[in-house]
Amino acid sequence: MGSQERALLLDAFDSNWIAPLGPHVDAFEREFAAISGRKHAVAVSSGTAALHLCLRLLDVQPGREIFTSSLTFVATANAIRYVGAKPVFIDSDRETWNMDPHLLAEELERCAKRNALPAAVMVVDVNGQCANYRMISGICETYGVPVIEDAAESLGASLDGKPAGSFGAVGCFSFNGNKIITTSGGGMLVTDDEAWAKQARYLSTQARDPAAHYEHSVLGYNYRMSNLLAAVGRGQLQVLADRVSRRREIYATYQRELGSLPGIEFMPEPEGFFSTRWLTALTIDPQQFGTTNEQVRLSLEEQNIEARPVWKPMHLQPAFADCRSIDNGVSQSLFASGICLPSGSSMSDNDQRRVLECIRSCCVKSVVSNT
Ligand SMILES: *Cc1c(COP(=O)(O)O)cnc(C)c1O
Repeated sequence: MGSQERALLLDAFDSNWIAPLGPHVDAFEREFAAISGRKHAVAVSSGTAALHLCLRLLDVQPGREIFTSSLTFVATANAIRYVGAKPVFIDSDRETWNMDPHLLAEELERCAKRNALPAAVMVVDVNGQCANYRMISGICETYGVPVIEDAAESLGASLDGKPAGSFGAVGCFSFNGNKIITTSGGGMLVTDDEAWAKQARYLSTQARDPAAHYEHSVLGYNYRMSNLLAAVGRGQLQVLADRVSRRREIYATYQRELGSLPGIEFMPEPEGFFSTRWLTALTIDPQQFGTTNEQVRLSLEEQNIEARPVWKPMHLQPAFADCRSIDNGVSQSLFASGICLPSGSSMSDNDQRRVLECIRSCCVKSVVSNT
């Protein structure tokens, strides 16, 4: 947090708008809509809440299928379950690590033939990079299936100059503590449809109908963002661009220092894709590198450095064992060999040197012990 966030938070506090509404909520929505290239933004209490509301906006009925990316954080799949729908997990491609458009097209074709198209495709932009909407958008349009973009991890990214969050009928962002900007907890739903934005605000404030007394005709939620947190969010928006360049710089250093080691491959950033490198993620081929991703993670942990595995795909999670999945082995292999390195915007050069030394020593050790 910086001085802007502090000043705005104190302004909110002193104004006494201590509620899930107020001038900072309105301003945060306006400013956020502008940077995400959408007409409307609705500030809510979490990214998961935003995903849940998207499915309600599309009026997804219990029992319907929703296609989604298997390589994601569990929140995406959970939101689908909240409305009683069935997630169908689509695997990743190697080029983007995101939903494989070919697998998606094949499965949509099969579903169309048996007249069982999904109610929506919820596409995730994983690790700070957009999915391949060049293909996905057209494929979904062909079948008339709406796209929901889970851009929780990709605020600040773009594809062919279009910002993350601008690709679906609705998009979602998260301001959880681990995201590129944070309000401690929070989320945003974005859309170009004014009626949907209105409906999302209505549903997120317990679906209170216009009447002096408390009148409710549909099921609502307590999902609105607090004015205090919106103030923090406005301050964070001002540093987003700096955060993105810092994360990309951290990635570039990892790439420069580790890229030539045997068996290391960074998450690719294809032509036209602009990744925030929210997380620097890479895979390690133990045959070439000499040690596994898990051994590297444990060596880092010994130095009190936290690294994490790549997301465990949803189709391999016990909680979703009963769900259909269209799988090509890619996300499973990314999970088996991947690692996410410390990538925080506030990491010092010295901290990063410690990470680099530790990883290099894992490789050197193994080369020595192999000879
Ligand atoms: C963080 C995250 C979410 C959920 O956001 P919260 O604000 O934590 O509820 C959803 N999807 C993805 C891909 C995420 O990384």
